Amino acid sequence: MQRIIEEALMVAKKFGVSYADVRVIDRTEEEISTKNGSVDGIKSSSSKGFGIRVIADGAWGFSSSFVLTDEEISRVAEEAVDIAKASAKTKIEDVTLSKIEIYQDRVEEQVKIDPFSVPITKKISILLDADKLMNLQGIILRRGGMYFSKEWKTFASSEGAYLELERVISNAGISAIATDGKDVQTRSYPSSFGGDYQRKGFEFIEEVKLLENAWRIANEAIQLLSAKPCPSGKMDIILESSQLALQIHESCGHPTELDRVLGEEASFAGTSFLTPDKLGKFKYGSDIVNIVADATAPFAIGGFAYDDEGIKAKKIYLVKNGEFVGYLNSRETSKKLRLEPMGAMRAESWNRAPIIRMTSINLEPGDKAFEELVSGIDNGVLMATNKSWSIDQKRLNFQFGTEIGWEIRNGKLQDMVKNPTYSGITYEFWRNCDGIGNKDYYHIWGLPNCGKGEPMQVMQVSHGASYGRFRNVQVGVLR
Ligand SMILES: [Zn+2]
Repeated sequence: MQRIIEEALMVAKKFGVSYADVRVIDRTEEEISTKNGSVDGIKSSSSKGFGIRVIADGAWGFSSSFVLTDEEISRVAEEAVDIAKASAKTKIEDVTLSKIEIYQDRVEEQVKIDPFSVPITKKISILLDADKLMNLQGIILRRGGMYFSKEWKTFASSEGAYLELERVISNAGISAIATDGKDVQTRSYPSSFGGDYQRKGFEFIEEVKLLENAWRIANEAIQLLSAKPCPSGKMDIILESSQLALQIHESCGHPTELDRVLGEEASFAGTSFLTPDKLGKFKYGSDIVNIVADATAPFAIGGFAYDDEGIKAKKIYLVKNGEFVGYLNSRETSKKLRLEPMGAMRAESWNRAPIIRMTSINLEPGDKAFEELVSGIDNGVLMATNKSWSIDQKRLNFQFGTEIGWEIRNGKLQDMVKNPTYSGITYEFWRNCDGIGNKDYYHIWGLPNCGKGEPMQVMQVSHGASYGRFRNVQVGVLR
């Protein structure tokens, strides 16, 4: 590693760069899926390569390769410089970076059981056991999956940073689809679209408790077929934490990305309603809404020890006591707005340049027991587990659907309802948040597939949430 890095930085400096950094990544992945009682797929892969990012003539250049020979390292470093110099011809202004503290460090993940030391047969048998428990009359599709990854990343910069960072991810999830010939209903566990992800070893698989929940979700999918439709109209809602996690992702995580705000993602990912004139002056939510970007959150897949610019993981407020107070930024964008760089630059792999990404964007827990939240509602719905989402380019108008809901009448949970949906405008919705569950219900959900950038980069982010109660929300179809 050291040889590759020294060579790359030396070549870059020789060609007159004002800044250079190198990332070398060695990653191993394993994916297992089961379907209706048998193994559906097993995928093992590994990837190793390096990427060089430079500033020359006041512009960025990036290049990468998986060939780790001296000649290729010099060629790639030179190519990154050439790209920077070519880009410089069309620059509007010079790239300048915020000053940061420089670290040399080595950080290992706190893993109890290396997931790659566990035989694949054991992983398959857990999934097939869960599958069996979901095999009820009326269930037509049963799925299960696990994913594991392990990587070592070395980051070094021309400013003297040298970081060796380990990252281990484990994932598991199951789902059941029921039909009665007229309707189709899905239930997933522990959350939809593949389940939950954490920066842990195989011990996470036991914590997820697939077997303890498999029968329940299959049974719920069947019950949903004959459940009544979710009511429509303005009413109060409670969101369960995995749905609230996605609400945070779409309506707070994305609009606080400073590259979006500055228009750099306008052609693909979109822009943001949280423009710089609103920073510190805009009521984003009610006084109890506190949303942090916390890369230090333990085991969260949005977390890390250092970001891809070598900034040590930080926790900052995006929304404090309801006020919009912070952005996710980079050294370059923080400098433009004279903000503290907070460490949110992340690249999907060695072959991509880092861009501003969410870290762990968490809604801090409140003080309410679940029963208190329910008892404060005369007419409303509890909604759980995301099914669909849609939000506009500025992140203002949204609509979400969940797998399951329960009516709330006179302070009590009532019948199960199918196809719950709700819609709103981001700041009106968060301003109507009047109750947040306490830390007993708080969980940080791993979301492995946030897409952004051109070329597209898929990023692992996470969101901590408890229950949230929102007043006067449009539920169901607008009439
Ligand atoms: Zn996203």
